[in-house]
Amino acid sequence: MSDGVIDQIKQKLDILEVLGEYIRLTKAGRNWKARCPFHAEKTASFMVSPERQIWHCFGCGLGGDIFGFVMKIEGVEFGDALRLLARKAGVVLKKQDPQIQSQKKRLYEVCELAAKFFETQLHKTAAGKKAYQYLTERGMKPGVIKEWRLGWAHDNWRALGDFLKSRGYKDEEIEVAGLIIKREENNNSPRPPLNLRGGERSERALSHYYDRFRSRIIFPIFDSQGQVIAFGGRIFGEAAKKEDMAKYLNSPQTPLYDKSSVLYGLNRAKNEIRVKDLGVIVEGYMDLIMSHQAGVINAVASSGTALTESHLNIIGRYSKNLAMAFDSDEAGNMATRRSIDLASRRDFNVKVILMDAKDPADIVKKDPDEWPKLISGAKSVMDFYFSYAFARQDDKSSDGKREIRKILLTAIKSLASRTEQSEWLKELARRLRVDERDLLADMQKIRIDESERGQSPGGAPEVPAAVKTRLEGLEERFLGLYLNHPQPLADIVVAEEDFQNEDLARIFKELKKCLGNKKGEELLAALRKSLKPELKIKIEYLALQIEQHERTEKEIIQEAASCLVELRLLRLKNQLTELSFDIRDAQQAKDKDKLGKLLKKFNLISSELTKITASQADN
Ligand SMILES: [Zn+2]
Repeated sequence: MSDGVIDQIKQKLDILEVLGEYIRLTKAGRNWKARCPFHAEKTASFMVSPERQIWHCFGCGLGGDIFGFVMKIEGVEFGDALRLLARKAGVVLKKQDPQIQSQKKRLYEVCELAAKFFETQLHKTAAGKKAYQYLTERGMKPGVIKEWRLGWAHDNWRALGDFLKSRGYKDEEIEVAGLIIKREENNNSPRPPLNLRGGERSERALSHYYDRFRSRIIFPIFDSQGQVIAFGGRIFGEAAKKEDMAKYLNSPQTPLYDKSSVLYGLNRAKNEIRVKDLGVIVEGYMDLIMSHQAGVINAVASSGTALTESHLNIIGRYSKNLAMAFDSDEAGNMATRRSIDLASRRDFNVKVILMDAKDPADIVKKDPDEWPKLISGAKSVMDFYFSYAFARQDDKSSDGKREIRKILLTAIKSLASRTEQSEWLKELARRLRVDERDLLADMQKIRIDESERGQSPGGAPEVPAAVKTRLEGLEERFLGLYLNHPQPLADIVVAEEDFQNEDLARIFKELKKCLGNKKGEELLAALRKSLKPELKIKIEYLALQIEQHERTEKEIIQEAASCLVELRLLRLKNQLTELSFDIRDAQQAKDKDKLGKLLKKFNLISSELTKITASQADN
């Protein structure tokens, strides 16, 4: 979608008019406010800026433009929000090119035919029978194999391609559907042997395409309407022992298939997810099919990737409750953590199904009744992390303690609710026998990498609802003041290093470059041009936050100055807490050298702290 249409719609629609249809706005200075429709609150912290055409809730941290608002409140994806707002604005969206539509239709046909072809190979050929036998040995029932339309791809370089061509489809179309691959000369792609079996004609041997799926059990992948759009292929038996063979091979990205937004099994699961008000997430195709076989139909598979924002948008239409299946080792996994964090931040209520066996498929094979039991006994995410951390580390040694602290503080910090955070901090302090306040201080130093946070689709990035530490809050306030009133503050000496938050440091760096003689909107416009999109929305948010109160120039200067002093003091105090941990560790380890160095550093920072405090008292 081109930015042109988006801008056109934004120009024709006023944010107050759009949001006013959903919530009651009251004027508050230059801005408008309302009770937030996205979280429960008694006092209004949801602000709308008609000048900036953005909204932001200072309670839950959500914010964005009109598109983001409509997506969120209507529970629709970007495309639907676009159509809705275009209609309202009287902007005509270009109809999809009929040529593209007919191309899509043919791609669906190619995929459907390929699925039928693979099914026949599984049921009617000798090699296919072996694959079939493997599936039944894994516990899959014949009816289920049929229902999910499993198939078999022969160990043959052209079987599928030739079949589809005989049905009137062109090489190029079959390639776009992701089923055949063009052979590149002089590279390392696998080569079909020139001397083909079955005495094929030499002209065919010179064909430039070969089948993507060979010697694999085929799992057709369906869209939410049940149409085949792609395939997953799994090796088994002897081939699975070869090291150079990937266990799973999937269709590439095609016009029909976008891996990051397709959940395997959704076509059968969606209604049940709504009815049970719970979505069960498993990893693989086998897990998913076996789960359905065991009667747990409200399950979908992420097909081996971490959950994405689009996955969550889709499943969120049916339920906000998720149970994710992981084996206990996976708690240490970045992909696991990212899936959990992303879902929690998107206001999903996430539980973890803890498995001792390798995967749900094995559990169901052993005892189909065990699987639903495990799901109803799903643990909270924090229980999952706690049992992982304490099982793997020695909580008596200082190294072990430090590791546990690292794993769990990051997890606790990711919790959206402050009350929950403090409950889990208490639990951690109790189990590690350390001062809870120290843990809290330590947690505040942990920065959760912003790049791990997802972006919403289309032109409407949202400010993520982040847990803010006091330091981050101060840094934001200071930068907001600076953005809104650069001239009176030009004399205050600040450096990029004064910001620990990397985003804020980056914005400040750009701000200094743009400053010159510019101010107000002119300055913001220059700044917007030089920043990445996710930082752009951040400056709007910072500016909006400051605009909430009127200030005189004198007040601005005073507030900024005291903000800066507080910032520096807090940073030093944090360093001292950290040092006292290290000192305690060094004392325990009886490492005199290290202890000496640490104490020296501690004294240096203490005296710096005293100096700042004293000069503050003088003023
Ligand atoms: Zn809110």
